Amino acid sequence: MSDTKNVVPTEADESVDNLSIAEIERQTKLLQLKLAKQALEAQTLELEERAYHIKDLKARLADRDIVEKQAKEDREQQGRTFAQQDATDQFNWARCTHRKGGNVSPQNWSVLRTGGNAVQYAIMKHQMINGDIWVRCLRCGKTWKPPVEKDFFFDLKGKNVAPADGKFDKVRFEKVAEEYRAASMFPTNNSMSTSVQCRFGRAILDSEGQVRFIDAADTYRENIASSNLR
Ligand SMILES: [Zn+2]
Repeated sequence: MSDTKNVVPTEADESVDNLSIAEIERQTKLLQLKLAKQALEAQTLELEERAYHIKDLKARLADRDIVEKQAKEDREQQGRTFAQQDATDQFNWARCTHRKGGNVSPQNWSVLRTGGNAVQYAIMKHQMINGDIWVRCLRCGKTWKPPVEKDFFFDLKGKNVAPADGKFDKVRFEKVAEEYRAASMFPTNNSMSTSVQCRFGRAILDSEGQVRFIDAADTYRENIASSNLR
């Protein structure tokens, strides 16, 4: 019990405590320095990372630029090829009589491409899956088929455009329809080829909520309008 007296701090104790405070202060400073150093390192890393991202982004943008340029060149080249093919077709189709006959000599094979002068036509008729009859010249490859209205819309410059962007040219449509009617009646002794025959329909809901089938021959024609019997 009398030991309690000994708890009163001595000089020596105070000096120990003073030392401890100095030590604590020193360690606190050290810790602060350490934290500051770490924060600096983190910021440096962040900057490096950001620089890397910028570099990466620039590289990707450059890649995309190259890909876009290449795609544009491809489209232009493709456009030139199509235009060239189209011009060649128009030339061949215009000079061909689409008829049988004519003389072929070893020196001159051109009649095979330009047609002869017989009454019979050098054509093949093919009945499409929807019943439409397409006619193809076996000499020049021209194909006549029922025209589709949506292909006869033109803008003010006369360019063939989508229906929403232009006006329907009835005269041009009728002309092609007439050419088709004439071609479908070209006399030929070649037999017609056919496909499996189907009727194209579309299911709709009528006003009473009943499912009904409506004729969709036009939809079928529109979908294959850009094909031919080449
Ligand atoms: Zn022809």
